[in-house]
Amino acid sequence: MLLSPIPTEPIECSYTDRVLVVGEAAGQVKTTTQGGIYYGMLCAAMAAETLEFAAKKDDFRAQVLKRYEQAWTKEISQELKTGLSLREVFAMGPHHIQMGLLKILPGTAISGEPGLVHAQRPPYQVLATDSLDHASLAELYWLGEVVEAFHNNRYFPSFFAWLRASGEDVAVFFEGLLALCRERNFFNRAATQELLSELLVAGTAERAEGDLIRELLCFDWLRCGHHHLPAPLGATADLAVWREALARRLPLNFAPHYDYQSRADFFRKSMFMPFSGAALRCLGLGEGGAGLVAFLPGRTASLQRFQKTVFFPDSN
Ligand SMILES: Cc1cc2nc3c(=O)[nH]c(=O)nc-3n(C[C@H](O)[C@H](O)[C@H](O)COP(=O)(O)OP(=O)(O)OC[C@H]3O[C@@H](n4cnc5c(N)ncnc54)[C@H](O)[C@@H]3O)c2cc1C
Repeated sequence: MLLSPIPTEPIECSYTDRVLVVGEAAGQVKTTTQGGIYYGMLCAAMAAETLEFAAKKDDFRAQVLKRYEQAWTKEISQELKTGLSLREVFAMGPHHIQMGLLKILPGTAISGEPGLVHAQRPPYQVLATDSLDHASLAELYWLGEVVEAFHNNRYFPSFFAWLRASGEDVAVFFEGLLALCRERNFFNRAATQELLSELLVAGTAERAEGDLIRELLCFDWLRCGHHHLPAPLGATADLAVWREALARRLPLNFAPHYDYQSRADFFRKSMFMPFSGAALRCLGLGEGGAGLVAFLPGRTASLQRFQKTVFFPDSN
């Protein structure tokens, strides 16, 4: 058996005449963990698209196949580069680098700052400063945990885009969320998307825009590929009714979404939900009126891999 080590960075060229290199062989592995399943599958989809394109042209020369490399480097090369530098960071000992909030790098100017009290062992947490006592710093730490749980994921992009556009002080918003998280024992529970959604709904229910926010959260939820709405987002809402209403309204052939033969599949595999004009304006869909959004089985090519969507304005 021939063994070779897992590549640690992408190969120089992943295409030539009649050849595309995909997955581990192309070095499409996470530079931090060496995991290659996600990147391999992502790039395989791009390779398939390129091959489909080449087959249509009946031309498999390198100059046609190079679009594969352009596609995958655009998608993941920044991540790979970041991972490479992160790997160098991880290779350092704790004395060389501290990552994250409220820690210090021993032996640097900051560690010698007057009034800075920090733990003597890695990861050298800052315990207090001249201006912040320990309780205030601890509060800052938990605020960081809430931002990490709610914001640094693919779950709520539309909601947070709305929050930023609303001009609200985001720090104040997260402070309120932290209080709610404590009240609901969030830090001792699994931070599922359902629980996070429940807390966002609870934390915004009293607002004038409560209904709008719930709609944005529903959009974000369905765009993540779920085939139901959880209780906090209105589980009782009958998604099947909207599917049937649209099925009655749309023609037998509706390019590019379906033709006569694929029509049943389109309605069976997609999710449908009506949205108000206000919500659709926030989402950048339509021209101001209400309508229905179909969440298709296919996903976007972006790393977040959201379900693709199609918007159908109300007919009247
Ligand atoms: C123990 C272990 C745990 C892992 N855990 C994770 C994880 O948690 N997450 C993660 O993302 N990654 C993980 N990985 C890495 C991940 O499995 C690989 O990165 C991924 O499978 C690479 O996919 P690939 O299609 O590029 O190559 P492979 O899965 O290696 O597929 C290559 C295929 O080509 C075949 N082949 C080889 N030579 C020839 C030839 N001459 N002719 C015909 N066929 C040939 C091989 O038999 C094999 O079936 C793990 C790997 C190992 C070994």
